[in-house]
Amino acid sequence: MSSYFNYPDEAMQDELRRIANAIVCPGKGILAADESVGTMGKRLQDIGQENTEENRRKYRQLLFTTDKSIGDYISGVILFHETLYQKSDDGTPFPELLKQRGIIPGIKVDTGVVPLMGTDGEGTTQGLDDLGKRCAQYKKDGCHFAKWRCVLKIQKHTPTYQAIMENANVLARYASICQMNGIVPIVEPEILPDGDHDIVRCQKVTETVLSFVYKALADHHVFLEGTLLKPNMVTGGMSHACKFGPEDVARATVTALQRTVPPAVPGVTFLSGGQSEEEASVNLNAINQCEGKKPWALSFSFGRALQASVLKAWGGKDDNVCAAQEELLKRAKANSQASLGKYQAGTVSGTAGDSGNFVKNHTY
Ligand code: 13P
Repeated sequence: MSSYFNYPDEAMQDELRRIANAIVCPGKGILAADESVGTMGKRLQDIGQENTEENRRKYRQLLFTTDKSIGDYISGVILFHETLYQKSDDGTPFPELLKQRGIIPGIKVDTGVVPLMGTDGEGTTQGLDDLGKRCAQYKKDGCHFAKWRCVLKIQKHTPTYQAIMENANVLARYASICQMNGIVPIVEPEILPDGDHDIVRCQKVTETVLSFVYKALADHHVFLEGTLLKPNMVTGGMSHACKFGPEDVARATVTALQRTVPPAVPGVTFLSGGQSEEEASVNLNAINQCEGKKPWALSFSFGRALQASVLKAWGGKDDNVCAAQEELLKRAKANSQASLGKYQAGTVSGTAGDSGNFVKNHTY
């Protein structure tokens, strides 16, 4: 076996390390606003709005024109391709609005999940073919980090070796292409919460999947200091008979990470995976309060758990924009506190209340 390798040159390492550390600096996390056109359509439908380019623009404008203090809690926003090139009413490009708030623009670069033949509904994620070219352009257009989501399912016979291996490898290829272009890859192997499994099964599957991911990243000479991990929290399945509390979730999650994620990785930014806004904040807080070795920042990259109340408060009406922005600020602050282990459960309540955000077999 050849042991020849080459990491990115020193200047590139510094650049990648600097971006990754800025995203997970203390008390800050990511707003995932990279819903594809189809997924955004579902969100708009829920509030009685049509899925037009203008409505998508107006909604993202609401998010990105929130008071500048949003930058105290949010360090990065993940955009969808269309959004990167949209502007506010006064003609300011969206990435510029983010920069004015001290927020780093990021971009979703995968092109979605496709089935793996001969499996029980498992899949892999596409988008590698022209990824180098797209990354180079996105970097020029102001994006400094990227997201690629892979999906694994817990069922009686899954995830299979085939799916675990394939998804780990495609994440590693994606990560290496990003780094060649000065973009920090967020590596997201999401294990879906669908199923009636208990938390122990989810923990073991998470450990297995993450160990494959870090082996593949090592095989591809990915510079870990310039990456972030976006995993699921370790929970029981959505249809499991009982609900596991924040201490159980925290212990199982931290243990799974300790066993698999190298300390060279600067930060872990959890997805919310259908948890309610409050549940996601409380669990993140418990994770940060959990005793034991935690050599990485443990923060958030929430989509639904940062936007459920915002969407509800907005309802598509111009008159409600300020109220909706207040919701975003409140929840971002709660998650900022949770990322420091300082969130008091129940102190922030949103328009969406404590309603869950679970969507079966969720796509992005
Ligand atoms: P949720 O927080 O809604 O799970 O989404 C985060 C995300 O970006 C998933 O890819």
